[in-house]
Amino acid sequence: MVVIRGATTIVQDEKEEIQKAVSELLWQIVNKNNLTKDEITSIVFSSTSDIHSYYPAKAAREAGFEGISLFSAQEPEIDGGLKLCIRVMLFIEKNIRPLHVYLRGARVLRKDLALKINIAIDGPAGSGKSTVAKLLARDYKILYLDTGAMYRACGLKALREGVNVEDEGAVCSLLSSLDLSVEYRDGVQHTLLGGEDVSEEIRTPPVSMAASTVSKYPCVRLKLVEKQREIAGKLSCVLDGRDIGTYVLPDADFKFFLTADTDVRARRRFDELKAKGFDVDLTALREEIAARDKQDSTRAFAPLKAADDAVVIDTSRLSVEEVLACIKKTIQEKI
Ligand code: C5P
Repeated sequence: MVVIRGATTIVQDEKEEIQKAVSELLWQIVNKNNLTKDEITSIVFSSTSDIHSYYPAKAAREAGFEGISLFSAQEPEIDGGLKLCIRVMLFIEKNIRPLHVYLRGARVLRKDLALKINIAIDGPAGSGKSTVAKLLARDYKILYLDTGAMYRACGLKALREGVNVEDEGAVCSLLSSLDLSVEYRDGVQHTLLGGEDVSEEIRTPPVSMAASTVSKYPCVRLKLVEKQREIAGKLSCVLDGRDIGTYVLPDADFKFFLTADTDVRARRRFDELKAKGFDVDLTALREEIAARDKQDSTRAFAPLKAADDAVVIDTSRLSVEEVLACIKKTIQEKI
């Protein structure tokens, strides 16, 4: 179930005005969100206490929204609140990121839900980026884009095709046949290579190392960054990676850089991979993480680095909940 919000205002409390405003608001919501009427479960209106002459729910039925459960309520008068304002919530059976609609000077009351925001979370492997990014996206009902998965898929392709990942030219020539896409099922990102879901396979240590190597090459980065910018340009999302705040989205609304001691990070990755059934060695994993850190932070093009305006959080001794709370506090203070 997804909720779409909207609001509009009228100039005078008159039946015809209410009918026109409600019809315009609902049809704009339907068109903007590519909805069919069957996908709408119910519509709830509230109007300010200066609107008496007509029920918005009745206007909605007359505008073509019959057969849907409708409800109207009146709001108490609030100091400084908008006058002659009709607000609406549409409950829909479709898993989309809602586009809220505000017309005729109506104000966005829940900025965290209605604004288009991009949140960049960068940091080294095991710093907790993806865990908090996923939770943040879930709580704000926005998209989570795991950019590391894209570099991993590219590394996997090179390994599968027997290409030496140290050979920049050979890796670059693979890109013309790189069929990489991301899909979301129940809000979870799936990474597809040539249509095959490789989300699990890309998590293995050899693929991690190959990803780190191929991600040094400008040809790879330029191709993947273009996709990342395209997604972030259209939707509110949390992106995690190494260069989101510095290179992919230098104008991101919020930037965070997570760090943690290498031992802590290695242990987290170890527990994570073990839980997924992979047979891993903690010492080898620690070495791999240290090698990746070095390679990622010393490459010439878009290295792993905190943006000057990023909030840096050392997560070594913090729980996931504490990191999440710290990020949310920073965001709430600004919007
Ligand atoms: O975040 P994750 O560990 O899945 O990333 C795998 C590798 O992909 C990293 O070691 C890094 O080399 C590369 N990467 C990158 N830029 C990003 C995300 C990941 O270079 N934005």
